[in-house]
Amino acid sequence: MTNSYEKTDVLLIGAGIMSATIGTLLKELAPDWEIKVFEKLDKAGEESSNVWNNAGTGHAGLCELNYTPEKADGSIETIKAIKINEQFQISRQFWSYLINNNLISNPEDFIKLVPHMSLVMGADNVSYLEKRYKALSINPLYEGMEFSDDPAQLKEWIPLVMKGRSDNEPIAASKIDSGTDINYGSLTCKLFDHLQKQNVEVNYKHEILDIKRTKEGLWEVKVHDLIGCKAKYYTTKFLFIGAGGASLPILQKTGIPESKHVGGFPVSGLFLVCKNPKIVEQHHAKVYGKAAVGAPPMSVPHLDTRYIDNKKLLLFGPFAGFSPKFLKTGSNMDLIGSVKPNNVFTMLAAGAKNMDLTKYLVQQLMLSKEQRIEELREFVPNAKSEDWDIVVAGQRVQVIKDTEAGGKGTLQFGTEVITGAEGTVASLLGASPGASIVVDVMLDVIKKCFPNQMKEWEPKIKEMVPSYGMKLAENPDLLFEIQSSTAKTLGLVDTSEKELVLK
Ligand SMILES: Cc1cc2nc3c(=O)[nH]c(=O)nc-3n(C[C@H](O)[C@H](O)[C@H](O)COP(=O)(O)OP(=O)(O)OC[C@H]3O[C@@H](n4cnc5c(N)ncnc54)[C@H](O)[C@@H]3O)c2cc1C
Repeated sequence: MTNSYEKTDVLLIGAGIMSATIGTLLKELAPDWEIKVFEKLDKAGEESSNVWNNAGTGHAGLCELNYTPEKADGSIETIKAIKINEQFQISRQFWSYLINNNLISNPEDFIKLVPHMSLVMGADNVSYLEKRYKALSINPLYEGMEFSDDPAQLKEWIPLVMKGRSDNEPIAASKIDSGTDINYGSLTCKLFDHLQKQNVEVNYKHEILDIKRTKEGLWEVKVHDLIGCKAKYYTTKFLFIGAGGASLPILQKTGIPESKHVGGFPVSGLFLVCKNPKIVEQHHAKVYGKAAVGAPPMSVPHLDTRYIDNKKLLLFGPFAGFSPKFLKTGSNMDLIGSVKPNNVFTMLAAGAKNMDLTKYLVQQLMLSKEQRIEELREFVPNAKSEDWDIVVAGQRVQVIKDTEAGGKGTLQFGTEVITGAEGTVASLLGASPGASIVVDVMLDVIKKCFPNQMKEWEPKIKEMVPSYGMKLAENPDLLFEIQSSTAKTLGLVDTSEKELVLK
């Protein structure tokens, strides 16, 4: 018996922030195209994009010290931080476009102003942070950034962190008030509600099982309807794999050359959460520290003000760990299942090169709650175990590939896009800075996959993202205009100052 196929123009796998964003962009650019979405869970934004599963930082390179390493000559490398800041400005512009055009509403449900700070201890680190501050604060993207190594000033900025410390220890922080806390899960749900109103078919409890390429250059997708307990078949002209940690095994099913010699290394995460209002009200910032020597960048500790379920909380972490699952809702067989004849040597090389990382992750996994509280005390010296609970965060799957610089089996710590088969398929792999830069990354996918439409689409893209194709750091007037208008639209008002924060 032959299967009957339903046709669509675009098929999106997964209902996380990535599919939500590319779906919304394409609906604006090509309103007549038919889009179908398949998600194995019963709601949108429940895996890594969920508010409890990530740190909710609007990464803009303001506070993350791993984006600004010290070079051999002692100067500070700022390229990565500036690039991420530019990318975050693109997200802000697109979200503002959506609000201004009533495509989504109530920005306060997903974005809030929370200062971003970096905190270091020890004389060498203090000198590094001061150099970092000097290198970044001359750039218009970082206007308003402050630095202090004065305990009295730090007590004002971060009383909870300073309580119980002696004034003799070298300590310093930088601070920028325009940082944000973002509920990517809430934003994802808003985007899917909007897409459904635009007649996009969103199929929950539907799991992608298989993918094949037809002679005509379409993609045949086999889907399991988890409620009806039956297989369904679709053909699509364009396929986007936004399955989070599970994107790699799904990409492997396409058989495209770009999916070969690529592996995934899963890293689990835990946060400590404090809901005690007496403690929560003593802290208002996302405070990023320095990763311990030898620790991977995803384990940079931070103490964050978070807004979750309409409550203000504190989260500390994430503590990294090892788990063979590619999704929080995944299977213990995910890692083994992703090893194929074409990537086995890449994976083995990565395993051999990263023994220290594996050892580190296993050690982290074995930490008792008291040992985790000990790590928290580096930030909050007076922390008491009874005020903090452990919550499980989302899974990250770091990409492993063969690179010229790193050789066979090099572990990548960023966000990676893979496109192939004449731009008919694209997939998003990797983690940080992830959701913060989603709009720029999805615009890049669109540019690579739809080169023939770009000329026609460019005016609309510029309407959605006025700075598209430009560097805001080199256009300070436009930067100021965009930052003030997006701050107003997104409600990024510092309520304590009762005035607009424009930077
Ligand atoms: C601990 C941690 C902290 C982080 N902190 C930050 C941060 O502070 N700031 C930031 O910007 N980013 C952060 N990130 C990264 C960010 O969370 C991710 O980049 C982003 O959520 C990825 O979105 P996604 O849509 O690709 O994946 P997801 O949100 O995971 O969505 C993928 C969806 O695909 C579905 N799916 C999987 N397989 C199938 C299948 N076979 N069939 C159908 N559906 C399927 C899943 O159920 C899921 O709903 C963090 C991540 C982690 C894990």
